[in-house]
Amino acid sequence: MSIAAAQVQNTSVITVPVPLGDRAYDILVGRGLIEVAGPRIAALGARAAAIVTDEHVGPLYAQALSQSLQANGLRSSVITLPPGEATKSYTSLERVCDAVLEAKIERGDLVVALGGGVIGDLAGFVAAIVRRGVRFVQVPTTLLSQVDSSVGGKTGINSRHGKNLVGAFHQPSLVLADTALLDTLPVREMRAGYAEVVKYGLIDDARFFAWCEANWHGIFNGDLERDEAVAQSCRSKAAVVVRDEHETGDRALLNLGHTFGHALERITRYDSARLVHGEGVAIGLNLAFRFSAALGLCAISDAERIEAHLAVVGLPTRLSHVPGGCGTVDELLDAMAQDKKVKGGSLTFILAKGIGQSFIAPGIEAEKVRAFLTGEIN
Ligand code: NAD
Ligand code: MG
Repeated sequence: MSIAAAQVQNTSVITVPVPLGDRAYDILVGRGLIEVAGPRIAALGARAAAIVTDEHVGPLYAQALSQSLQANGLRSSVITLPPGEATKSYTSLERVCDAVLEAKIERGDLVVALGGGVIGDLAGFVAAIVRRGVRFVQVPTTLLSQVDSSVGGKTGINSRHGKNLVGAFHQPSLVLADTALLDTLPVREMRAGYAEVVKYGLIDDARFFAWCEANWHGIFNGDLERDEAVAQSCRSKAAVVVRDEHETGDRALLNLGHTFGHALERITRYDSARLVHGEGVAIGLNLAFRFSAALGLCAISDAERIEAHLAVVGLPTRLSHVPGGCGTVDELLDAMAQDKKVKGGSLTFILAKGIGQSFIAPGIEAEKVRAFLTGEIN
């Protein structure tokens, strides 16, 4: 047994079940899971696996994964794509579908997504449509994908009409969140994923938010707290997904911070050099609580506490923190009006009565948002 494998055996693995009836699956969280991915994936009964990855992640981890699969009797092949959001395209979709067919992936076989949310969304969508659906396994390699995009079964690509507009709900058969893979993640990506971790506390779990305030160092350093934060985030997301698999109701709570965040991403033209999603979410979380306070719903001290925590880990929290500027109030309102959460002129926000007390608030008048943003910008 290799030293790595021995270490793995000593590592505790946290299992988070996602009880979705005949689409139920487990999320496994732990350090070094990729080394033992073979037996876990082989247990699904497939004979072959097509690993989809990107040019940053593939060279670091694809070999370990395919060796582990081959050692357990699974034929495997690797498809490597350029990194970045532009990869969630029709061009890549065609390329990966053909590569999966070329690899003779049959109905009982698997597509394995080894990468961040870009690879997970694309590979999941390929799995949803190739041969009218094959199974897939997520091996998420960013904090964001471990706590968010790999859970819940939303898959898809971008269209020139907007992000994530072409896709399908397709649940994975297994998620392996190896928290050691985050050791190579650039710190900016780590922080961006952390904004989504904090979000779960702010939605409905004040104790988890307080735990994050006390333990964020361990999460960033790769201590046991990282595994716990990933597992707890997955539990939170899984609970929402189980209540509302196809996003007709409650699942909207996961959009806390995202109405403002998406508007900022749109204004910065999805230029990751300026703003990545989680940074937009961090600013959006602070704004959602400040807006809630401005509407008299929650104490301003809650917003200040959230802002202090986001700032201490190095996340942006203010409109003035957007590199190159956040545009005018009108531009921000326009960008928000393009969001899918707009109905009949008024906006749906996720607001809060306090930390861990978020709720869906439809029918927020644009004028109230305008007044709030005018105060924030000036
Ligand atoms: P990403 O996949 O682009 O990864 C970020 C960067 O980190 C890339 O350059 C990648 O190559 C690199 N990287 C990934 N893992 C690494 C590792 N272990 N070591 C070193 N570098 C690594 O971005 P993301 O933030 O993971 O995902 C964003 C995407 O997720 C967006 O397209 C978004 O729409 C989608 N998303 C989907 C859902 C969903 O429910 N399906 C939810 C949230 C976000
Ligand atoms: Mg998000």
